[in-house]
Amino acid sequence: MSNAIISISGIQKEYDNGFQALKGIDLDIKQGEIFALLGPNGAGKTTLISTICGLVRATAGTISVGGHDISSDYKDARNLIGLVPQELTTDAFETVLNTINFTRGLFGLKSDPEYIESILKKLSLWDKKDNKLMALSGGMKRRLMIAKALSHEPKVLFLDEPTAGVDVELRRDMWKQVQALRESGVTIILTTHYIEEAEEMADRIGVINKGSIIVVEEKDDLIQKLGSKELCIMLTEPLETLPDSLTKYDLTVSGTMLTYKYDSRKEDTGITEVLEAIKTSGLTVHDLQTKQSSLEDIFVELVSAS
Ligand code: ATP
Repeated sequence: MSNAIISISGIQKEYDNGFQALKGIDLDIKQGEIFALLGPNGAGKTTLISTICGLVRATAGTISVGGHDISSDYKDARNLIGLVPQELTTDAFETVLNTINFTRGLFGLKSDPEYIESILKKLSLWDKKDNKLMALSGGMKRRLMIAKALSHEPKVLFLDEPTAGVDVELRRDMWKQVQALRESGVTIILTTHYIEEAEEMADRIGVINKGSIIVVEEKDDLIQKLGSKELCIMLTEPLETLPDSLTKYDLTVSGTMLTYKYDSRKEDTGITEVLEAIKTSGLTVHDLQTKQSSLEDIFVELVSAS
């Protein structure tokens, strides 16, 4: 992918106890996107993020960030990355401003009060800049972790479960702020097991399960699937195969049940035509039922099938 800021190729990770946490991951992250990595607990999300950030060493495969290989060119790759870990680690007695300035200094960058002011303002922390960290609320501490991760002007920001345990209102605030960061040009990769979070924020969604990526799609395409419905048509007699006159429709047969897939948001769902064709073919309909597949259904189905 030509506009990829991160290229991941054949990444495997076997932990010392022999556990295979990543089983050959290939993934490109596009410059400027919000990419959500969705997966159940233990799927390998944190391991993958930690590998990209150079905190965990892959057993096989390569990763480059902004064209820099994370093992042979670690420093340049790492300078492009901001990481907000799951755990909140802060020094209670330090002030917000000192904490951010200190973190920037660790990357060997000169102080830049204007830049720091701009990120603190974006994260609604500017009026708390002189507060000690222990005086911050949980939501503020999370935003402070983001500000710390942004202090060295990274091009890519990793958010590991950014809103785990955060109440609904704060979660929405956080989503807005993350979107504002993307608008300022930062590429964002977040892990989550809240499907709604991925649905709300992401441009693309990757689903990981048992160490493998099982799907990567534009969110809108997944939403398209969200709009897909099934019409279950129960017949009076079981069928071995579809009559020839019905093969042109998106129908599957299983005993007395015919299933027709359609997009419920389209004006013409094709239902009338299908029912008409069923009648013309001489079959008798006993009962009808419709089913909606949600993103949650799609996710559960993908994960249980893999
Ligand atoms: P969660 O949503 O629960 O954080 P996750 O998708 O981030 O899950 P990981 O933390 O990457 O999952 O863990 C993936 C698997 O690797 C899990 O089964 C975990 O037990 C295992 N694992 C993680 N770290 C180690 C380690 N240091 N040694 C051995 N196994 C590990």
